[in-house]
Amino acid sequence: MRQNGIHHITAIAGPAQRNLDFYTRTLGLHLVKKTVNFDDPGTYHFYYGDEAGQPGTILTIFPWEHAAPGRLGIGETQETVFRVPEGAIGYWTHRLVDKGVPHEAPQKRFGETVLAFKDPDGMRLALVAVPGIEAEPAWSIGEIPVEHAIRGFHGASLLLDKAAPTGAILTDVFGFTEVAREGSLVRYKAGDTALGGIVDLREAGGFPPGRPGAGTVHHIAFRAASDAVQAGMVKKLAENHGIRTTEQKDRDYFRAVYFREPGGLLFEIATDAPGFAADEPAESLGRALKLPRFLEPKREKIEAVLPKVA
Ligand code: ZN
Repeated sequence: MRQNGIHHITAIAGPAQRNLDFYTRTLGLHLVKKTVNFDDPGTYHFYYGDEAGQPGTILTIFPWEHAAPGRLGIGETQETVFRVPEGAIGYWTHRLVDKGVPHEAPQKRFGETVLAFKDPDGMRLALVAVPGIEAEPAWSIGEIPVEHAIRGFHGASLLLDKAAPTGAILTDVFGFTEVAREGSLVRYKAGDTALGGIVDLREAGGFPPGRPGAGTVHHIAFRAASDAVQAGMVKKLAENHGIRTTEQKDRDYFRAVYFREPGGLLFEIATDAPGFAADEPAESLGRALKLPRFLEPKREKIEAVLPKVA
């Protein structure tokens, strides 16, 4: 079966330690990879996900100690949404209160219970209660019982001037289908992909454009099962939509191309292979600082510049 949907979502954040504490301790995600921004090696690049770091579970963060806060607006990701079992929303509501995390009361969206909250940089996140996923494996160490643990991405919502041009890319290139409408929201679903299979487009014409910075999403990456599938998507973008992508870049854990979609967001197409066990054992993912081969000679300098985290 062809796998579609979101591969990873990458966001900008403030201080590294605060970000690590929030995502690994408060939310209980697995730090799957600790590396640097390949284009700016004085900055960490953290990957949070499930045990193995499957596509569709990965939130990646560039933490800059002094990042200025961004502002949500048109042409940006409005909300990054994780899946939890149906019975877990009560647990999470209590936990967010306990931990002093700003959140809203649970609400219904497309018939699903949604608990919206913000990370320490003001990034908009939500948990969605999904029936029937209790038995799915979940990463759980520390305080959060496995029955309540996050099970990857539900998806993301994008704030757009107009939904249709972005919807055309989702359906024609990434294998999504429009499945529902509610108010100004249009829901797209990637077949029966469970992890990261939902993208909601919110049409908000007249809203001012967003400003990148801490607490905003930098880009969303969609899955390509192989290099050949990725090349097919690149061809479709060019032939059917007049959009050119970057050349393919080797990100060590996947191979990526990037493009600006018609609504203004930066999209990426990332291959499933080789995955996060490419440069360290699956049992100890995320513990050591990993560097791409071209930066290994500079390890000492890089380690001296990076903030210490634990
Ligand atoms: Zn990416």
